[in-house]
Amino acid sequence: MRNGRPRLNVPPINIPRTGVDVPAGAARFAAAVPAARNVLVPHSIPPAKTSPFDLAFAAARRAAEAGEVPVGAVIVRGDVVLAVTHNRPRALNDPTAHAEILAIRAACAALGDDRLPGCDLYVTLEPCPMCAGAIGFARIRRLYYGAADPKGGGVENGARVFNHPTCHHAPDVYGGFREDEAAALLRAFFRERRD
Ligand SMILES: [Zn+2]
Repeated sequence: MRNGRPRLNVPPINIPRTGVDVPAGAARFAAAVPAARNVLVPHSIPPAKTSPFDLAFAAARRAAEAGEVPVGAVIVRGDVVLAVTHNRPRALNDPTAHAEILAIRAACAALGDDRLPGCDLYVTLEPCPMCAGAIGFARIRRLYYGAADPKGGGVENGARVFNHPTCHHAPDVYGGFREDEAAALLRAFFRERRD
C-alpha cells in the first residue's frame, strides 16, 4: 500500500453510504449500458442499507449470469453513484472491458471530465495492473477492493503499480472488504465452467 499503509486501515463502517439520487449523467449511463440498469434505478435501493459494495457485488453477480468473470465496480462521489459496472470483455469483444475501466469511462462521461478527483472506486477484486494504471490516470481519490488477487492483481500483488515512482497519482488504498464473498463468487463461477 502507498506509504506502507496497512490493509484494512479503515474499518468498513467508514464506507460512505450511497443515496438514491442518481444524477442526469448517471441516468444516461444507465441507458447506454443496459446491464447496469437494474442496479442504478432510483428508488429501488433502500439508501440506509445500501453500500457501494452492495452495488458492486450485485453487478458482479450479473457478470456471472452473463458468462463474464464476476467482478463488479462502483464509482461514487460524495453520496452520488456515478457508475455501476461489471466485467464485459466477452460481450464487447474487448480485453480492456474490465469493470473498473468501464466504471471510469462511465463516470467521466457522466461528469464530462477526463479526471475523477474526489471520486472513490469500489471493486470486488483487487484491480489488475491495467486497471490500477487507469485508476491513477483518472486521479481516483480512494480505492476500496474486496479480495486480493495473487494471480492477477496489480496493487498489493504483482506489479504493485501504485508503489512505483513512475506512478504520478496513487489513490488511498483499502483492501480486504467482504473478501470471502468475493472469492466465493469467483470460485463458484470457475467451478461451474469446469463442470
Ligand atoms: Zn483490470
